[in-house]
Amino acid sequence: MHKGSCDFKIPVAPRPKSCYNRITKLQKEWIPMAKVLVETSARHVHVSEQDLETLFGKGYQLTKKKDLSQPGQYACAERVDVVGEKKTLSGVSILGPCRKETQVELSLTDARSIGVKAPIRESGDLEGSGCCKLVGPAGEVVLEKGVIAAKRHIHMTPADAEEFGCKDKDVVSVKIDSEGRSLVFGDVVVRVSPSYALAMHIDTDESNAGCVAPGTYGEVIK
Ligand SMILES: [Zn+2]
Repeated sequence: MHKGSCDFKIPVAPRPKSCYNRITKLQKEWIPMAKVLVETSARHVHVSEQDLETLFGKGYQLTKKKDLSQPGQYACAERVDVVGEKKTLSGVSILGPCRKETQVELSLTDARSIGVKAPIRESGDLEGSGCCKLVGPAGEVVLEKGVIAAKRHIHMTPADAEEFGCKDKDVVSVKIDSEGRSLVFGDVVVRVSPSYALAMHIDTDESNAGCVAPGTYGEVIK
């Protein structure tokens, strides 16, 4: 029987082994150690309503394809080409909903390969970030800023933050145990909001560096 190209199985990392080595101040009893699910964000674009209309046509609305882990965020059916000085990345996903400013999140490998600058920034911190051109079916947008490599981060609710002993804007390290590429990520920013769900986000370069399989949990170290 002919096998399609998608028959391979994605390996799922086992749940962490050491789970009982942290004591809460309040409970004075052993509780499972707080770990965070590590999710890999592939390259993507957030668009403003105005740029969406330029790229896809007047009055255009994004088409939700799949919900993401953060409440209200979703992957869209629409894709755009990201044009750099050297090359073009075709068919880059758009994530919805629309934002105030258009933002392109690339890995440093992507950025180097197409010839754009992508400073490591938190989402929304776009002053002096990289420039590129976006091409959609109805038009083009030249971005004078907006290209970044997203700074690795953990989304937490206030309750999560209390459990981890963290607060908004804390910088922590996260230890990853993987098959053959275990490492510790430093410079991980904690972001706390009631509208978040607990998850750590890294890009594809970081994910490959740590051989981070879907379902991998990281241990927060301070
Ligand atoms: Zn995130």
